[in-house]
Amino acid sequence: VIDGPIGAAFLAGRTEEADASLRSAIAHAGAGQQDKRGVVHLVGAGPGDPDLLTLRALHVLQSADIVFYDELVSPEILDRARRDAEQVFVGKRKGQPGIGQDSINRQLAEAAMAGRIVVRLKGGDPFIFGRGGEELDYLQKAGIAVMIVPGITAALGCAAEAGLPLTFRGEATRLCFVTANAADGPQSVDWSLLGDPKTSVVVYMGLSSSAMVRDGLIDAGRDRETPVAVLARGTRPDSQAAVGRLRDLPALAATIGEGPALLVIGDVVARSEPWRIAARQIEVAA
Ligand code: SAH
Repeated sequence: VIDGPIGAAFLAGRTEEADASLRSAIAHAGAGQQDKRGVVHLVGAGPGDPDLLTLRALHVLQSADIVFYDELVSPEILDRARRDAEQVFVGKRKGQPGIGQDSINRQLAEAAMAGRIVVRLKGGDPFIFGRGGEELDYLQKAGIAVMIVPGITAALGCAAEAGLPLTFRGEATRLCFVTANAADGPQSVDWSLLGDPKTSVVVYMGLSSSAMVRDGLIDAGRDRETPVAVLARGTRPDSQAAVGRLRDLPALAATIGEGPALLVIGDVVARSEPWRIAARQIEVAA
């Protein structure tokens, strides 16, 4: 203070001026504090295995005052949050409607405006079929700082676990992530774009629409014998895989107990571990 203009005024004997300046500076510092909004970290929690959290996700999680999480986030991951952090479930329980995106948006904004460090934990990556874009949009419009921490999306976690190379030189030169959420209706996917045999297709939220996926891809020109996999609860202790041919996709999906699950369609599926195990079993039986 002594080095600045207030100090100069004081030393020069202009005490009233110095006093007024000091009061104003203090008032502004206070106002600055009140304006200080918290931050929302939009964090990808990966596909389930806590070892697949990024170091940054872990770091941010341990700094959070409050954590909003959904149904895809495993308890082992929530365990990594600070003991005194508040944990708020904002997902959907089986058979029950969720609390709604508007309500989630508002709760995130309110917590941040109260000056708290907010973590919004989402399964996989926040920007892959996770409505992270909508939350980012809402928070930015509300003037709240948002930091994004990427996560390992389900397709990458499940493919790694299954030893399934999603691209392969000369065999799969394109990779497509699509959602076949029944709620959006079958028209929501333009299957004609996916007829190319060198495209690996990973379908999110497609377990209950497997017949539609099969028909769409066959109509688009995919061979009915194309190898497919249904990968359920990937990277979790109870993960499950079923492999077969595109024509049989609904039958394969029916063997899966519970989601979340991905459908993977493409010749590269024949390189995966579950495929090699199934092929060996057929050989032994024959
Ligand atoms: N943001 C998430 C996806 C959310 S959409 C991500 O990047 O992974 C929810 C869908 O993701 C599920 O219906 C399922 O298709 C897929 N999914 C998420 N976790 C999964 C897992 N552990 N194993 C298989 N599929 C999973």
